[in-house]
Amino acid sequence: MTDLTADAPAAEQPGSEAGNPAAPGGGRTVASAVPSSLVARLAAGITAAGEPALVETVAPLTGERLASLPQSTPADVEVAYELARRAQHSWAAQPVRRRAAVLLRFHDLLLRRQDEVLDLIQAETGKARLHAFEEVLAVALAARHYGRAAHAYLRDKRRGGALPVLTHVVEGRRPKGVIGHISPWNYPLELSIGDALPALVAGNAVVNKPDTQTALTALWARELLVEAGLPADLWQIVVGDGPVIGPAVVEHADYVSFTGSTRTGRDVAQRAAARLVGASLELGGKNAMLVLADADLDRAAEGAVRACFSSAGQLCISIERLLVHHSVADEFLARFAERTRALRLGGGLAYGADMGSLVSVRQLDATTRHVDEAVKAGATVVAGGRPRPDLGPFFYEPTILDGVTPEMAVCAEETFGPVVAVYRFDTEDEAVEAANATSYGLNSSVWTKDRRRGRAIAARLRTGTVNVNEAFAAAYGSVGAPMGGMGESGLGRRHGAEGILRFTEAQTIATQRLLPLAPSLGLDDRQFAAVFTGGLRVLKALRFK
Ligand code: NAD
Repeated sequence: MTDLTADAPAAEQPGSEAGNPAAPGGGRTVASAVPSSLVARLAAGITAAGEPALVETVAPLTGERLASLPQSTPADVEVAYELARRAQHSWAAQPVRRRAAVLLRFHDLLLRRQDEVLDLIQAETGKARLHAFEEVLAVALAARHYGRAAHAYLRDKRRGGALPVLTHVVEGRRPKGVIGHISPWNYPLELSIGDALPALVAGNAVVNKPDTQTALTALWARELLVEAGLPADLWQIVVGDGPVIGPAVVEHADYVSFTGSTRTGRDVAQRAAARLVGASLELGGKNAMLVLADADLDRAAEGAVRACFSSAGQLCISIERLLVHHSVADEFLARFAERTRALRLGGGLAYGADMGSLVSVRQLDATTRHVDEAVKAGATVVAGGRPRPDLGPFFYEPTILDGVTPEMAVCAEETFGPVVAVYRFDTEDEAVEAANATSYGLNSSVWTKDRRRGRAIAARLRTGTVNVNEAFAAAYGSVGAPMGGMGESGLGRRHGAEGILRFTEAQTIATQRLLPLAPSLGLDDRQFAAVFTGGLRVLKALRFK
């Protein structure tokens, strides 16, 4: 394999076109975009009583201090549940259409005021503005979908009764009550409010614990939803260290919605199980992209860049394993590497950069460790491969590795950074087997000009979503269809019917008319059994379901 790093002139290295992160977006700095008055206003939305302890967050783009946020205690979490529970009763009594109207108003407000939240997302996560916009897009899609479709999902449905005509059956959907909702830092708008929207429209209240690093974005979204008509107490936000207040969020919940790492997800699931409350878990991934011999290599290379480096790879559905057919591997890799090297890294609070920073020193260290260990053990760096402290404290170049072998951590462990390893295959079976050789099962991507073949291969992949000729956005953006993980990537699904019905209890109301389901009309037990045996045979012959 050609060492493309060695071939690349220095001027083509990523970041060479990057702006100065200290004076981003035409002179707008993080401090001017997120002034202390805004922080104070948003922080007032945190449920935390008395004189709470404060925790400082840092803007990843520059390393400067961003916000000082009150920390909720487990007792505050209890108060949040009490307030939410009180507000939930009258909210649940409102017609679905009235609740849905709040989501539709929120949709319009979000699109109108998107610049405010794009600044916040960039300030808290360090991602490029285009990647922050993906969150606005995803939330708007979910708000419109559940705003328009909630009524159909939630309305009473007639079901076949035990005895045709005589048993009238209706399946209804009741809200669970108060949802405990724990969200991570990587997509702070989408993952705090994206799942809250279906929960709320289904008649629930929500107690949300966002990651402290990205709490301002969640608080902003809550403020906007209240402006759209949501009763203020219905969505409570508590902020604090996960191991300290996370268990309390699970402890009082009627249902838990968790997005985060598989390790924490297991703990959350066990606590929920001990209380016999349900939980949906959206966890990690080690997602594969398959480039078949007949793929359009330019489109695949362009798609691979988005697949691997959106939000600097800190995306649960991003691609970390690239499986390429032997016959096109060198050609594909050359085109992919060329596009990767041309990416502009930058920290401006404006559109223009192709990739931003990692969120924290923890992510930077994890990424650096995976790459350095692999290189030491014999892997080749095709592009990238180093931190960029000249751009900001946590920047890391988009990185392509070749020659990765199973004993290297980067082969099977989720990196959650801008790193992808390239592997080669000869047959379709080999590719499917390699893609499925992971305990995760979140997302995958297949590239081929033969769309029918792409869908056939997709059906053999053990992942909750598969994108044919797209990286992840086709499936994730199709909010009418379920999204989630198989295996260690999670339990349950967001989006579609499952994404809203998980926040409800099914209730069957059966009304019996004229005859009971027991001996009557003078029949003794034996005669009753004989009549019903005959009846059952007739119903099957008449093709009753
Ligand atoms: P994490 O599990 O460390 O934290 C997620 C959330 O859980 C945070 O709010 C954290 O404070 C909280 N938490 C931590 N310990 C807790 C505990 N003991 N009890 C309850 N809550 C606790 O994950 P992270 O590192 O912040 O996020 C990155 C991970 O999330 C990656 O593995 C990524 O793949 C995954 N993720 C999955 C999806 C998906 O939809 N499948 C989406 C985004 C991120």
